Amino acid sequence: MTNVLSPIPRDGADPVEPVTSVDELRRRATGIVLVPGDEGYADATLAWNVASRQAPAVVVEAADVNDVALAVAYADHAGTGLGVQSTGHGMVRPADGGVLLLTRHLDDVIVDPVARTAWVGGGSTWGPVLERAQVHGLAPLLGSAPHVGAVGYVLGGGMGWLARKFGTGADSVRAFEVVTPDGRLVRASATEHPELFAALRGGGGGLGIVVGMEIELFPVTTVFGGNLLYPAEQAEAVVTAWAEWIADAPDELTSEVVFMNFPPLPDVPEPLRGQSFTIVRGCWAGDLDEGRARLARLTDVIPPIVHMWEELPFSEVARISNDPVDPMPAVSSGGWLSRVDTDVARAFAGATFPVGGPPTLVFSEIRHVGGATSRGDRATAVFGNREAELLWHALGVPMGEDSAGAIGAALDALKASLGDALDDRRYLNFVDGEERRASLAGAVDAEALASIRRLKAELDPTDVLRFGVAAAS
Ligand SMILES: Cc1cc2nc3c(=O)[nH]c(=O)nc-3n(C[C@H](O)[C@H](O)[C@H](O)COP(=O)(O)OP(=O)(O)OC[C@H]3O[C@@H](n4cnc5c(N)ncnc54)[C@H](O)[C@@H]3O)c2cc1C
Repeated sequence: MTNVLSPIPRDGADPVEPVTSVDELRRRATGIVLVPGDEGYADATLAWNVASRQAPAVVVEAADVNDVALAVAYADHAGTGLGVQSTGHGMVRPADGGVLLLTRHLDDVIVDPVARTAWVGGGSTWGPVLERAQVHGLAPLLGSAPHVGAVGYVLGGGMGWLARKFGTGADSVRAFEVVTPDGRLVRASATEHPELFAALRGGGGGLGIVVGMEIELFPVTTVFGGNLLYPAEQAEAVVTAWAEWIADAPDELTSEVVFMNFPPLPDVPEPLRGQSFTIVRGCWAGDLDEGRARLARLTDVIPPIVHMWEELPFSEVARISNDPVDPMPAVSSGGWLSRVDTDVARAFAGATFPVGGPPTLVFSEIRHVGGATSRGDRATAVFGNREAELLWHALGVPMGEDSAGAIGAALDALKASLGDALDDRRYLNFVDGEERRASLAGAVDAEALASIRRLKAELDPTDVLRFGVAAAS
């Protein structure tokens, strides 16, 4: 299924005619083109993560695929490079002085309940995909937050609450439609441009602008999920019990331990406001009675002070993590762990929970993945480190330059305190900015990296897409 009906050339045809000025770009584009000083320019350059700021020379709000090709042609002519943004949850490098292409209006979502697939426009978030798939008892492999961009998420891999049962978001992609940096629209699938298809499934996306993708959907209606809250001081005991609990967990269970400082804000419920907790959070996607029995194995060993696991329509899966929806500043880092034990628990609790002052980090987490994510097809997806099972991520909310520096220092101190439990391989979605830009070599294996670099040299020899993950050698 594809609904990209575009006047721009497909495979083999000539790219769009050159675009040699902003005026010409404005004349030929259907969407809005903005330059500094134009009304709307400042808003258009904002990212969800407001700590990431950018000053592009031109902003193109693509209304259709043709606008994408025109923006690429102009960036190529101007030699300024082009940055792609859907939501700005994971900006890599600000598109300063370049062309900022906003994909958010490429937001078609069409569900085919018979084929169990969805067509997802290149700028859509997961929310509409989830909503329309759930009408048919189907689910996409979204992450914890439906307001994250669907394409940006799968380009980095994509680990959500169905990860152990069904795999990564990248593995669920059946085809991408891509405008290449040389201005062609190509379809990449297992049988069409298979090397590009594999490279986009977990390779960070520095090879083209994805204008849409076809993904597989999975039958999921009701899950059992939520949060168990424990006192912050119990972190080591909770992590020990959790590690034993997940050791033989079936793939139906995807779970994590969270070290959480709830902010002292009015919209945080009273018992949590300004308090710190160790949390066991997760989702059981299987027989609900079996899920309840499985959770009891943990709560019998270590009873929580607040029990908030419940049956949940999957359409409400965002309630499990309750991630902030509105734009906010964030500085974060993350990656893989080689083990989880009391030393690791002490490192995370020590870095996250405040001692005699306000906390520097808002939260940190250790996620249990593996299961179906380990079994994805390595030949058709470059997503790497599949044998690793423990992901970590930590985040602070900077209120200025000084506090951004303090958060960076706290993240560095956390990494140092993890010692040899810190796996130096990378997970693209859990690092931002320059750290993500430099992470490709640690996120895929050597053969995949060579393939991505070969494609980059072929498709983007002048590095038009220079503001994303560095794919060139
Ligand atoms: C609150 C929150 C919750 C999250 N939860 C999870 C989670 O559960 N699991 C997980 O794996 N990750 C998670 N993430 C990380 C998230 O998946 C990544 O940051 C992802 O890259 C965001 O994609 P985006 O399109 O929303 O952001 P953007 O900043 O718009 O894009 C991110 C990157 O993808 C590129 N890109 C986006 N769209 C396209 C396109 N159409 N074509 C080419 N390149 C494109 C951009 O150029 C940029 O380099 C979370 C992030 C946040 C802030």
